[in-house]
Amino acid sequence: MIILRNVWKIYKLGNNKVYALKNINLKIDEGEFIIIMGPSGSGKSTLLNIIGCLDKPTKGEVYIDKIKINNLDDDGLTKIRRDKIGFVFQQFNLIPVLTALENVELPMVFKYRNVDDKVKRKRALKCLKMAELDEKLANHYPSQLSGGQQQRVAIARALVNNPKIILADEPTGALDSKTGKKIMELLKKLNKEGKTIVVVTHDQELAKFGDRVVYIKDGEIKDVY
Ligand code: ADP
Repeated sequence: MIILRNVWKIYKLGNNKVYALKNINLKIDEGEFIIIMGPSGSGKSTLLNIIGCLDKPTKGEVYIDKIKINNLDDDGLTKIRRDKIGFVFQQFNLIPVLTALENVELPMVFKYRNVDDKVKRKRALKCLKMAELDEKLANHYPSQLSGGQQQRVAIARALVNNPKIILADEPTGALDSKTGKKIMELLKKLNKEGKTIVVVTHDQELAKFGDRVVYIKDGEIKDVY
């Protein structure tokens, strides 16, 4: 499903080079739940951005669902992201002037231009249900929702184009630990329903939710357990 082969990411800062990823080799099978863990600055977000086709490696090969992404241009990368990947962020990244339901509908606007609005609404409601948000909250604005509820809306939005892969960068980082566990349980449920999930976190407590933990330090994979 996801293959990284000898992947390097090197940033140039003036005359200095920052080796954010050093020779990463990683294979993630369909249906796996992977936790990427490591200290701040170790390269976790860089790795997730490459898996998410938000960025390309300096060296090495990346395959997403059998497609080699190295040779794709921006349009090609955008299409892979839109069709295959759902993103979840620490700060939810919801649009404040849209309701929960409208936020979830938004990614469909770009993918299903010719689909009837009613069909889109039904699909968005289904995804809110999959993310276990109380139906009564569908017309609330993000500011009227708790952090945990906002993250559920963000997860529903990630599901709406039916991606095979969900990538989450510190999805519990802005939540208290009890709410954070609930969000991880939701991701685990979606994983059991067939999604391949990759979560970046620095919280050791969350390791138990993964099938495998990839521990990264100074841009290198130090351990997989
Ligand atoms: P983490 O997510 O584990 O905190 P990052 O992937 O954000 O780590 O960063 C890894 C390293 O790469 C850090 O040293 C960081 O400063 C550096 N880095 C990340 N993005 C850039 C960039 N756009 N330009 C230069 N250096 C960067």
